Amino acid sequence: MSHLFLSDAAVGYLPSPVRDVWELSMQPGMISLAGGNPDLRLSDTRWMAEAAARAITDHGDEVLQYGSGTGLSGLREAIVELMAAEAVTAPADSVQVTAGSQMALDLITKLLFTRGDTILAEGPTYVGALGVFGGAGVRVEHVDMDDDGLRPDALRERIDELTRQGRAPRALYTIPNFHNPTGISLAAERRPEIVEICREAGVPIIEDNPYGLLRFEERQVPPLHSFDPELVIYLGSFSKIIAPGLRVGWASAPTWLRRPLQLASEANVICASVLSQDLARTFVTRGGWREGVAGAAAEYALRARALNDTLSPLLPAGAELTRPAGGFFSWVTLPEGWSAVDLLENAVDEHVVFVPGASFYADGTGSRRLRLAYSLEAPLQLEEGARRLGRALERYGSV
Ligand code: PMP
Repeated sequence: MSHLFLSDAAVGYLPSPVRDVWELSMQPGMISLAGGNPDLRLSDTRWMAEAAARAITDHGDEVLQYGSGTGLSGLREAIVELMAAEAVTAPADSVQVTAGSQMALDLITKLLFTRGDTILAEGPTYVGALGVFGGAGVRVEHVDMDDDGLRPDALRERIDELTRQGRAPRALYTIPNFHNPTGISLAAERRPEIVEICREAGVPIIEDNPYGLLRFEERQVPPLHSFDPELVIYLGSFSKIIAPGLRVGWASAPTWLRRPLQLASEANVICASVLSQDLARTFVTRGGWREGVAGAAAEYALRARALNDTLSPLLPAGAELTRPAGGFFSWVTLPEGWSAVDLLENAVDEHVVFVPGASFYADGTGSRRLRLAYSLEAPLQLEEGARRLGRALERYGSV
């Protein structure tokens, strides 16, 4: 792909693996466990058309004009309320509104890293983050996870090892709740330890939490941010709880990052869409959002159960399946020697698709893993999808 006219960044960006399977998933009769999109039928968006019309009619001079570089003040206040629901205590002036949390991640990467620097991330990690890091020339080093999330002992070892090699990591990127792609959550007791390890090593943490409110049980786990708001940069998003098309997300930044983040954001987009920000604000201030989000989470819980309960007994000996307590994803590890890419061929014949796991690693591993998204299909469809996957596994295992 390299070309005389292109920069190093141009060759570092990666194509989305979800888009690769998208075409397959559009074939008639296909059940898709590939795309991790929210189901908009579960969001209450009926109020939105009227609210948009009213905003344009009554406050057109505000919502159709350039806005503040940090974000609409009413929205920043509303975000404080949303974050409080997840035990994140942060003032409105810590909030930088961005066009999706993806943009926040991109800006933060620009502000924290020089090309060739190293970042730590769970192995596997969010493929869109790998794209950002790749474009910025940042080298990703994975830290092992288990069923309780990122392993503190592995984190400590990795930091020591990289520091000895003269490549001390500049930050840790982590998704502690209902991790994409595994669905795993970081155990409560590990959280203060992870923050302490990073604090000692002088490694800031980027805590990415787009799925946190979509939890299947009431249990509230403290965010990493609560243990050190000057070390942890917290990312949130309206994409999974209202609609990703609004493109509204945010970073709640430590004091040292606020000004650089604002300037970087202004250089990037001047301001996020003011109309979208106004709708996101209304979503919170009109009331009832907690019930709305809880209702969607309850439906995602049914979907997770439908997929996983049906699939679990159909897995071959030696395979593993995660059982998420929130979010959109389960993660399968196939037996030694199996390949998810080869399995996908059989799966397509059975009319079901998923995303092979290798795309979620920067180091070329993950070939016997796969991500299953249960967010977009109804429970009965998911049960059928699991049975189809079971047949694909059986055929694959018998050759
Ligand atoms: N982080 C994670 C872990 C995600 O899964 C996503 C969306 N798939 C994002 C960030 C980006 O979300 P958005 O830009 O829509 O807020």
